[in-house]
Amino acid sequence: MKNQGLILKTVNLNDNDRIFTVLTRDSGKITVMAKGIRSQKHKCFSAMQQFCYSDFVLERRTGMYFPVEARVIENFYNLRNSVEKLALAAYITDIVSAIPEEFPVEDEYFSFILNTLFLTAKADAEKQGIPELLRLKAIFELKTVCENGYMPEVTKCECCGSAKNIEYFDITNGRVICKDCKDKPVNADVIKITPEVHKSLYSICESDMRAALSVRPTEQTVRLLSEAGEEYLKNQMDIYLTSLDYFKNLIVKDV
Ligand SMILES: [Zn+2]
Repeated sequence: MKNQGLILKTVNLNDNDRIFTVLTRDSGKITVMAKGIRSQKHKCFSAMQQFCYSDFVLERRTGMYFPVEARVIENFYNLRNSVEKLALAAYITDIVSAIPEEFPVEDEYFSFILNTLFLTAKADAEKQGIPELLRLKAIFELKTVCENGYMPEVTKCECCGSAKNIEYFDITNGRVICKDCKDKPVNADVIKITPEVHKSLYSICESDMRAALSVRPTEQTVRLLSEAGEEYLKNQMDIYLTSLDYFKNLIVKDV
């Protein structure tokens, strides 16, 4: 089978072999087992590193795939020049691994994942790059929830229909609430948002995925959006990962 795929996860099996979770363009997530791949002499070695997007020729035996050939298309090399960027990339690929199989990966979302990794690799490695990483994180989280069937109502207050004075994001029900209706949602987690955060939420959720990646709010708004993004992902899709804690611990010293 010929396929293009992004390596989401690698697990060492023993001294020589490794198991990979690969998100393929045509066949969703698959498990690939490669013998002897931990040796640099293996012909697929460079194309089968974590975060590599590669062209594969695979052979299927006993329910598992084995690489026949692999060639790197993009290895997002610059992810490796900062621990923060690597941590965000690991969080992004962990999110993709955690998406339940019943949601097929659409072509547009596949490209969105690659574009997010590309922009993460491109971000400044130094301290000024942290808001950019948080921006990418927030957009990735919000769009992932939208793509998987939980598009929030962000144009107007869902209780009264008003488009004015939107002050809350109801992450349990996926909607925004105005100042006058703030007591109406029961048993719901709501986050207080600023007009800027509301505007960005609207731009991100209502744009296509490519356009969403060019939404550039102020740094303060980015930080609030990042909190909203992870809460929304946790609430709607039950995805909360240890790689998120790791990423947040790394950047907290820079806040
Ligand atoms: Zn209202």
